[in-house]
Amino acid sequence: MPFALFIGVKLRENTRLSDELVRLVNRDRLTDVATRDFFFRRMESDPEAYGVSLMVDIDHFKQVNDTHGHYAGDAVIKQVSQILKRETRTQDIVCRFGGEEFVVFLHEVSADQGLVVAERMRTAVAAEALPGAEGRPALSVTVSIGGSLKERLEDINLSIQQADAALYRAKSNGRNRTVVDWLPAPAERSRAG
Ligand code: GH3
Ligand code: MG
Ligand code: MG
Repeated sequence: MPFALFIGVKLRENTRLSDELVRLVNRDRLTDVATRDFFFRRMESDPEAYGVSLMVDIDHFKQVNDTHGHYAGDAVIKQVSQILKRETRTQDIVCRFGGEEFVVFLHEVSADQGLVVAERMRTAVAAEALPGAEGRPALSVTVSIGGSLKERLEDINLSIQQADAALYRAKSNGRNRTVVDWLPAPAERSRAG
């Protein structure tokens, strides 16, 4: 092979390998959404970002694994990640934060719009069912969502903590619901009279 051609082939190979490396580092293996590291690097490089942070957690997921097995559990995690992707735009970030937990950042989205998007995600997950394994019933799950508004220059870590606190309220109020930290949850409103 002529030398110049050889160099060309090697360069292309290197580019392919470095693209592959970037992908491995930035994307979660199971779901192909962003990793937690990528999420924080991206958000910390853009402290002026304004928008809504959502923490999304699959309800009673341990039970899914116990009843249907770990493979089915993995398929559910994948499916939920795809629904979250589908409900967001390219400028938003969906990341797998941990096992069955996701964080979504909706760029330049107001509190009201953020709540609408979160509810769209929640109802889309509840409406979807995976075919069950042989002789098993179809598998459907719900998610609970906590939301917080990130002001420009607010620390992303703080916004995530606030979304997490709202998620905790969504769980204690019965799951399969969205609680945003700028509004009382409906159940909390009625308790307050
Ligand atoms: P809650 O409604 O309060 O969120 O209950 P939960 O059962 O979803 O929460 P818990 O934190 O008790 O359980 C989460 C489970 O998720 C436990 C863990 O085994 C499982 N899990 C974490 N990562 C994975 C994964 O990659 N694949 C599978 N199949 N399961 C996972
Ligand atoms: Mg859970
Ligand atoms: Mg969890």
